[in-house]
Amino acid sequence: MASLTRSLPLLRSKPPAFNPKIYRYTSKRHLGIPPAYLLDDYIPRYQLLSSIDASKKRSLAYAHLQNCNLCPRRCGINRFHETGMCLIGAETAKVNTIAPHRGEEPCIQGFHGSGSVFFSGCNMRCVFCQNHDIAHKKAGHDLTPTELAEWYMKLQTVGHVHNINLVTPEHVVPQVVLSILDARDMGLKIPIVYNTSSFDSLDSLRLLDGLVDIYLPDFKVWKGSTAKRLLKAEDYVETAKESIKEMHRQVGDLSFTSDGIAKKGVLLRHLVMPGLEDEGREIVRWLAENVSRDLYVHVMEQYRPDAYVRYKEINRAVREEEWSGVREAAVQAGLWRFCEVNEMGGFHL
Ligand code: SF4
Repeated sequence: MASLTRSLPLLRSKPPAFNPKIYRYTSKRHLGIPPAYLLDDYIPRYQLLSSIDASKKRSLAYAHLQNCNLCPRRCGINRFHETGMCLIGAETAKVNTIAPHRGEEPCIQGFHGSGSVFFSGCNMRCVFCQNHDIAHKKAGHDLTPTELAEWYMKLQTVGHVHNINLVTPEHVVPQVVLSILDARDMGLKIPIVYNTSSFDSLDSLRLLDGLVDIYLPDFKVWKGSTAKRLLKAEDYVETAKESIKEMHRQVGDLSFTSDGIAKKGVLLRHLVMPGLEDEGREIVRWLAENVSRDLYVHVMEQYRPDAYVRYKEINRAVREEEWSGVREAAVQAGLWRFCEVNEMGGFHL
């Protein structure tokens, strides 16, 4: 993972020159988008917000910082004077890396990358965290909302990215809200992606309503006992259910423009865990029955046990049959939109 300063050269790179091979590929791709999810054009939601609603959101963001119950940890503290479980104060957000990123789903990273902002700190304590060097340490740069907005603008104008992708932002939602409002005044015009563990509160999601275009929630485990042991958050499951429903209420199912780039909606991730295939099956069934059968889902197989994992039962890679068991349960439940390679070598949209 590059540091903030090391990422600067990446921002200087220009988009690739016209390539007829890519053009042929993209012009075919739009044929694969179901008409219901094909957009002619797209204006980000934050650009449509009235100035009165924008002012209300600013005031609310500051109020939350003075008595922070914004995530399910409900610390109830004034973040201008002390820090809660997330270890982050009020005036800045700590950021580990900002750069165009090509490690996301094809419809998010597109051709020029997703403009990713990796926040340091986290309101969760997953024992298998795949980003623990960022999430559980206070390393990073302190940026004010206005400085964050200036980085979004650099990502847009220099990096030519397709979106601003806020990674693990649950504990800095007020700062994020203020930064999006600042960036809208500076001329930002690409969608905002909120890339979350789903350990969000409804208050926090309502504050984001009208500012976020794409929600990228992860639904991790199904049982409260597993959440307590592996995530250190016993109330994770009920919180995730409530949060994902609210995200879907706000932006609906995932839609694309004809170039195959996602512009609005929910892209749900489930990382299949070793030995927890049954929980994965429950999750996909619940999503089909309670959120939408048209939900765009990425059933992920890339779990890797890191050396620091002290929990024997998850200290191995996921087996092929565990992943395919969850994928099959999703199909049986009626889900049909998966982030997977299609017959033409592109991706299903
Ligand atoms: S965002 Fe941080 S301070 Fe606020 S409730 Fe969550 S953990 Fe506590």
